[in-house]
Amino acid sequence: MLSYQHAYHAGNFADVHKHLTLYTVKDYLLRKKSAITYIDTHAGRGLYPLASKETLKLQEHREGIEPLWKARKTLSNPLLCEWLSQVTLVQPDGISLSCYPGSPWWLSQGLRSQDALRLCELHPGEHAELFEQALPPEAVRVHGDGLKELEARVPVATPRLCVLIDPSFERKTEYQEVADSALYALAKVRHAVLMIWYPLLPSGAHHTLLDALSASGVRKIWQSELQLREPGGERHGMYASGMLVVNPPWGLDERMRGVMKEVTTLLGGESRFSTRWLVEE
Ligand code: SAM
Repeated sequence: MLSYQHAYHAGNFADVHKHLTLYTVKDYLLRKKSAITYIDTHAGRGLYPLASKETLKLQEHREGIEPLWKARKTLSNPLLCEWLSQVTLVQPDGISLSCYPGSPWWLSQGLRSQDALRLCELHPGEHAELFEQALPPEAVRVHGDGLKELEARVPVATPRLCVLIDPSFERKTEYQEVADSALYALAKVRHAVLMIWYPLLPSGAHHTLLDALSASGVRKIWQSELQLREPGGERHGMYASGMLVVNPPWGLDERMRGVMKEVTTLLGGESRFSTRWLVEE
């Protein structure tokens, strides 16, 4: 079953949370010259026009990127300003917000000749769209199962590995499958930086993933959650976005708390951000 299409959700609060974390992690990794292999296990289309019929249906970007974009000239957090100036780069006129960049774009920014990038997408239509995106020649697009690809690729030839696992969680079993593949990759590359996104739903299904990682013996698992609304309110579905970073770069917690303080003010309402160690060092 592959019915999920990210275009319906592009630029929502979870994308903001995920891509700000990804940007901050990468910013730190790029301070050293040694080569990095990036693997994006669930890449999506790569770029999302906000006027597409899919995105217009739910308009989730109005509770995500849009309020940040509108305030971009008056912001005080330098990281948020930097991140939004990156978002400007994909706007055809450089002024109005008409596109939102997905993880393939964020990962391909700042890619150096020594680095490698593999973008995996299983959905044939989404993969075809990804294939059309203008990305650097080092970006290899793989049509196939991202978790299998991750397992087949480790250990990697470069000294460093950075992975984004961002599934659609259409099947309940995906929470356990993600944990199994992440643990397999970490057994092969102990120092890999692994980012895993998960939704917080009223069912609490994400606990399968958290419990499996907590019990695994892997250390240094940083967790952050961006809540948009209280669970159990009138609106069903995802009420918060979660991010795990295994082997987080130094200073990630402080930088993310700083940036999210301003983001939650802009998102308003019941939005709140929290961080903790799921498993400490
Ligand atoms: N990472 C993207 C971003 O941040 O812009 C969004 C990805 S979206 C949440 C999940 C994507 O995974 C969808 O495009 C879906 O078609 C794809 N997908 C679902 N199952 C997959 C699998 N087993 N392997 C690779 N891609 C898969």
